[in-house]
Amino acid sequence: MAKCKAITKDGKPCQANAQTGKDYCFLHDPEKVEAVKAARSKGGSSLKVIDPKRFKPWRGTGGDVTVLQSPTPQDIVNLLADTIDEVKTGQIDPRVANAVGYLAGSIMKAIELTTLEERLASLEEAIGVNKR
Ligand SMILES: [Zn+2]
Repeated sequence: MAKCKAITKDGKPCQANAQTGKDYCFLHDPEKVEAVKAARSKGGSSLKVIDPKRFKPWRGTGGDVTVLQSPTPQDIVNLLADTIDEVKTGQIDPRVANAVGYLAGSIMKAIELTTLEERLASLEEAIGVNKR
């Protein structure tokens, strides 16, 4: 895979792989630089583009974090939509987005199972079986 043709702030060639069919990586793509700038000025200093080489997953992104309490499926949809936007505008590391996607899938599965269990319990109660 070809390397990105951009020069970084310290004057060295960017080490990231260029996007398929393009000369630049995601962060240096001239088409996307404007979107990243717009996202940065819109959100202020809490938004940052993370250099994947410096990213420490266990320390988090240092950005604003919203913790979902008892999330509903709609919360998960909103979270995923936000995450997709943030990846596309370079605000978060795609690996963070991967983790969010994976965990969101787990939450959805858990919500599904909980809902099924509740429905089953009320059905069982209605027909008078399995009373505890
Ligand atoms: Zn680059």
